[in-house]
Amino acid sequence: MNSLEKDAKNFMQGKYSMSDFNSYQRSAATTAIYTDKVVYPALGLVGEAGEVANKVKKVLRDKDGVFTSEDRDAIAKEIGDVLWYCAALATDLELTLGYIASQNELKLSKRKANGTIGGSGDNR
Ligand SMILES: [Mg+2]
Repeated sequence: MNSLEKDAKNFMQGKYSMSDFNSYQRSAATTAIYTDKVVYPALGLVGEAGEVANKVKKVLRDKDGVFTSEDRDAIAKEIGDVLWYCAALATDLELTLGYIASQNELKLSKRKANGTIGGSGDNR
């Protein structure tokens, strides 16, 4: 089992908590060096999300959708970049990732209970 698989297993076993998000956010803030608050991380977030999508696209195009461990590792790094920009954007907006994650978890659990996971609209 490689480190990526071990980490995924730990995650699935609930060995992380919402406070881990805040800990990561504090760490990310130490490497946030930019002046255009909010705008810079919002643009960076979209750019990095595009890098994730591009790597997935290339696996679909060139490898029949079969993800190697190298592909997964490369995509994990891009998801990490997305996470960093999420943390920076949250910090600039005076929000915490822990709050955002818990609110998202609450929203989705309500949708699941109501049978509205599928469909569209922010307030279902
Ligand atoms: Mg990147």
